[in-house]
Amino acid sequence: MESIASRRSSTTMKPERQSPASPVGVSQAHLPITNDMDLDKIAKGVRLILEGIGEDPNREGLIETPSRVARMYQELLYGLNRDPAAEINCQFNEDTDELILVRDIPFSSICEHHMVPFIGVAHVGYVPENGRITGISKLARVVEVSSRRLQVQERMTTEIANALMKQLTPRGAIVVLSAEHLCMSIRGVRKPGCQTVTSAVRGIFKTSKALRNEAFALINSKN
Ligand SMILES: [Zn+2]
Repeated sequence: MESIASRRSSTTMKPERQSPASPVGVSQAHLPITNDMDLDKIAKGVRLILEGIGEDPNREGLIETPSRVARMYQELLYGLNRDPAAEINCQFNEDTDELILVRDIPFSSICEHHMVPFIGVAHVGYVPENGRITGISKLARVVEVSSRRLQVQERMTTEIANALMKQLTPRGAIVVLSAEHLCMSIRGVRKPGCQTVTSAVRGIFKTSKALRNEAFALINSKN
């Protein structure tokens, strides 16, 4: 197993740097919006928060805020009840059994404990089974759907790895997430700049230390 892995060459694909609001493969114009959210209810809740903190919800600057925030949540959380694996909706065959890794996929998600964002990058890789591959943008779409819900980073990492294994049944998958949690930066312990790193490995990445090391080296390399 180790010798197979050590002979591997690798394909690393680094997406163009884009703003977190427009992750690779997902143009803002095509962001799906879930329609089954109760926007009125969210707006009422925001109004209550404004009242609760002692604001005047009727002053000019705040009058539209509840409905604006409701629409914002509709956008930020559109991935709720969507299956990230369904984003891998195309597969084709290529004569390769090498590591395929998309690095530095920007994402922003919402921490379910505090409902403030955590923002970072995802690195998603797999080794195909029998040359069965998917479009590289599909990996970014899996990250996107998994991030657009109330989340914890640990679960998001697992969800992405499981989505790959379920839909593509590769020989193995590796997912590494690195993110700054605003609930830790701006409140509580107040330590801005901390990166929380989580990883999930499946299949051959579990058994082959050489392959795992190769993936981590590529993730950490500068180019
Ligand atoms: Zn939090």
